Amino acid sequence: MTPPAAPTPLSQVQDWIDAARKVVVLTGAGISTDSGIPDFRGPKGVWTTNPKAEKLSDIRYYVADPEVRRLAWQNRLAHPAWTAEPNSGHRALATLETRGKLHALITQNIDGLHQKAGNTPQRVIEVHGTVLFVICLDCGWRGPMPLIVERLRAGEADPPCLECGGILKSDTISFGQSLKPGVIERALRVAQECDLMLAVGSTLQVYPVAGVVPTAKQFDAKLVIINAQPTQFDDLADAVIRRTISEVLPVICGVS
Ligand code: ZN
Repeated sequence: MTPPAAPTPLSQVQDWIDAARKVVVLTGAGISTDSGIPDFRGPKGVWTTNPKAEKLSDIRYYVADPEVRRLAWQNRLAHPAWTAEPNSGHRALATLETRGKLHALITQNIDGLHQKAGNTPQRVIEVHGTVLFVICLDCGWRGPMPLIVERLRAGEADPPCLECGGILKSDTISFGQSLKPGVIERALRVAQECDLMLAVGSTLQVYPVAGVVPTAKQFDAKLVIINAQPTQFDDLADAVIRRTISEVLPVICGVS
């Protein structure tokens, strides 16, 4: 094993971003933990501390069992995304867009915090969907979550689709559901187009989205990985930063 290289100074990464024209950022749960949204697979993650919760995120149980749906709606009512605020990490990425540097922001998160921080929705690619919208599994109707929250608060335990009577669910990708092909294609395309990729707060274990990282590298982009734990792509990276995301991003994105 070769000894680890000396950590790249943040000023160096800041220079790379200053020189870049098309930055693509990939974000995972790690950017939102400082906003009070727990991750799923970490040591304190939802699935680690409560294995039953995983059942609620599995489309097969969800479709088959009204009790699972009832519990899932209760969980959505209590979801921290409703009250969470973007942190300085999210805001730094909005600054990157204001500076004209941000080509696209690919996120594995479903919390909508990038848009809330000021990134334009058209630039945010939500590969795992969003908890802010609801979709009908039968007819495909899609609408804002607050409409359903109102019905839940009025006493419906498992509100059916008003168009067709079908099963409603948050517009997120559950276990057993495939990703939307157009969304992943777009993520891979922007990865090919960027000259710098920042992978932030993702363990880079979930495919196909993790594939955007080697793709960017194949197309000669610089690669910077910011994550608390090592990732499988650290060897590919031009810099690996293991520091607090909400502290690092404002520095390297040039927030003054
Ligand atoms: Zn429907």
